[in-house]
Amino acid sequence: IWNNCLKIIKDIVEWQHFKTWFEPIKPIELKNNVLLIQVPSQFFYEYLEEHYVNLLAKTLKRELGKDARLEYRIMVDSGNGRNGSMDLPASGMKIYANNEMNFPLVIDNPVKNPFIIPGLKKMQIDPQLNPTYTFESFIEGDCNRVARRAGKTVAEKPGANSFNPLVIYGGVGLGKTHLAQAIGNEVKRLHPGKVVLYVSSEKFINQFQDHSRNNAINDFIHFYQLIDVLIIDDVQFFNRAEKSQDAFFAIFNHLHQSGKQLVLTSDKAPKDLDGMQERLLSRFRWGLSTDLQLPDYDTRIEILEHKMKNDGLDMSKDVVKYVAYNINTNVRELEGALISLLAQSSLNKKEIDIELAKKVLRNFVKTTSKEITIEAIQKMVCEYFDVPYERLLHKTRKREIVQARQITMYLAKAFTKNSLKTIGEHFGGRDHTTVIHSCQTVKDLMDTDTIFRENVMELTQKVQLAAM
Ligand code: ADP
Ligand code: MG
Repeated sequence: IWNNCLKIIKDIVEWQHFKTWFEPIKPIELKNNVLLIQVPSQFFYEYLEEHYVNLLAKTLKRELGKDARLEYRIMVDSGNGRNGSMDLPASGMKIYANNEMNFPLVIDNPVKNPFIIPGLKKMQIDPQLNPTYTFESFIEGDCNRVARRAGKTVAEKPGANSFNPLVIYGGVGLGKTHLAQAIGNEVKRLHPGKVVLYVSSEKFINQFQDHSRNNAINDFIHFYQLIDVLIIDDVQFFNRAEKSQDAFFAIFNHLHQSGKQLVLTSDKAPKDLDGMQERLLSRFRWGLSTDLQLPDYDTRIEILEHKMKNDGLDMSKDVVKYVAYNINTNVRELEGALISLLAQSSLNKKEIDIELAKKVLRNFVKTTSKEITIEAIQKMVCEYFDVPYERLLHKTRKREIVQARQITMYLAKAFTKNSLKTIGEHFGGRDHTTVIHSCQTVKDLMDTDTIFRENVMELTQKVQLAAM
């Protein structure tokens, strides 16, 4: 009987599919019009249910009459070489997939199929998303505007937009994981029926290697091919996993062709990803690659304020500014500084004030290892503002030059161990009060003049880098 069924099916489905999905099925027994078939794995079973349940039902009814029923037996590889098997009850079943392979797979609420074959509702996959990573909590700034908006578009129309794949790249702690997960959460909110999965590339590679050891690469690939929105975090780690790249390539192609969405993150621009197959890199270029930058001072303030509001915290504006100004490495450190501040303040039962902030932040601001000289800072400022070196030193009333000089003094004071007197001497023999006055002017201007502040911040970063 099974052979007759196969003959019919063979004419209907493509040869390749037939070979993959029907040949491995073993008929076990036929009792009371119930045909028990054995399938090699859980995924195999799910795939059949997902794609061929109607075909199987029709064929079987044709052979056995309309009371025909089908049951599956799934071979379970216990992982130690012994094979076991698991029969699926005919109805009302609740199956938890064997999680040995580390898939976040939960199948629940089977509904009785309108056909006689016990069916499952669409496969349910836990998307592995952190619900706090949303667009709402991802503060927009110049540093991330393009990426954030592209992410929103992707979430609204997954698969049906020109950002496929969407590749988000940038340094550590700049929000790649947050944004990627926000996309996943938003898809779930707008399109609850879509199957979303977030996975780090390390986890993907581990899963792949597990399956590879168990000769179950096909299962692995088929599982991933069922996903509507696949988010893979930190793809740079694929560089040392050639075989995983092959699997990823197969999955990528299948999903892309079926109009499914891919979202990838990376710590480097795709063109700088070493050890990545060229064919994968060329796929990445099909969509949009967009980067995340370090948030500017205003955005850092906004991020801090958002976090404080969320956690019901209070801190004076001065302290917020102080933290935002001094932590300019990445957002994760910004959060770290905030948490340390809170911890310190509750430990010492002390208000968070500038003094405490100074103390706590000392541990965060990178201790400079190289000694930077006043001359080096002068050169950087001159280059930055395109001012000739001599003019920085000599008397002039020209505002740009006066400001450039003041900034240089300010930076020299902040980044060198020279006395005010020595600094003054480096500017054509000015005295220490001029230096004090300059530093004060710079601080005041930073509070009132946005462009000025941007300039100083950028220069500060340059000096910091040079001193690292
Ligand atoms: P990455 O994956 O790039 O290393 P994460 O996504 O883990 O960085 O971000 C580090 C932390 O900074 C997270 O707690 C995240 O919520 C926060 N963060 C990053 N960017 C923003 C932003 N624009 N608004 C709010 N929080 C942010
Ligand atoms: Mg990350």
